[in-house]
Amino acid sequence: MEKQQTLKKSALVSGIALHTGARVTVRIQPAPENTGVVFRRVDLPGRPEVRALASHVVDARRGTTISNGKATVFTVEHIMSALHAFHIDNCIVEMDGQEPPIADGSSLPYCRMIEEAGVVVQEAESLSFTPSKILYVEGGSSKLVFVPGGESLRISCLASFRGCPIDPQFYEFTLEREAYCREIAGGRTFVDYGDLKQLLAMGLAKGGSLDAAAIIHDGAIICKEGLRYPNEIVRHKILDLIGDLYLCGRRVTGTVIAIKPGHSKNVELAGMLLREIAAMEAK
Ligand SMILES: [Zn+2]
Repeated sequence: MEKQQTLKKSALVSGIALHTGARVTVRIQPAPENTGVVFRRVDLPGRPEVRALASHVVDARRGTTISNGKATVFTVEHIMSALHAFHIDNCIVEMDGQEPPIADGSSLPYCRMIEEAGVVVQEAESLSFTPSKILYVEGGSSKLVFVPGGESLRISCLASFRGCPIDPQFYEFTLEREAYCREIAGGRTFVDYGDLKQLLAMGLAKGGSLDAAAIIHDGAIICKEGLRYPNEIVRHKILDLIGDLYLCGRRVTGTVIAIKPGHSKNVELAGMLLREIAAMEAK
């Protein structure tokens, strides 16, 4: 039987938020059993909190935004991905701004901060979840199938990105902490040059730089240090999916077949899982 986990001590990271360009500090704090993952806005009066659940997602177009009317947090997916991979059931993510730092566009900085803080096992049982039947969501160019069963979360992912020299990209991954740090966590955010120009015109992506993302332009990839993996795009898509699925409030097991996944369909799938968990708990 697996037990719930939290951090041994609080961990801190500071940096620039992708869209606002503001400096933000994130402090992930240990939390008691059955707290779940809760974001707390310490910059707002009353320090409002919002639980990281699919039912609180208010926007999933360019990133995953959660809000309960009092606290709103943008771009939660990279932190959620690292928390899912490290089996952190309970923690408070304190932020002094509306969006966590983009850092290098991957979840590696969040993995490092969890590693540095250490993970502690709690008393209560950690209930992983697999759905009772096959789940399917589709929309735009995305298709996601969740096949229940098994001991771990396996993801088979096909990604395609306009103008990318290697297109499409396919990768299969089974979620396990060390493998995640080695194969997935380093995959950075990608942005199409045309989209970036549009984002900047809309006053977004102010904190974007070649430190924070790789830019695709005319079949070339522009980034500071070169690609970390030849198929870095599909790895980042898996990173995002692992983060978005954790919005069902539990670790999940089963096989996800994801064709061109995006936040909107990822969150829809997490919402289906969340509703089934709620129905099961109500019995
Ligand atoms: Zn992402």
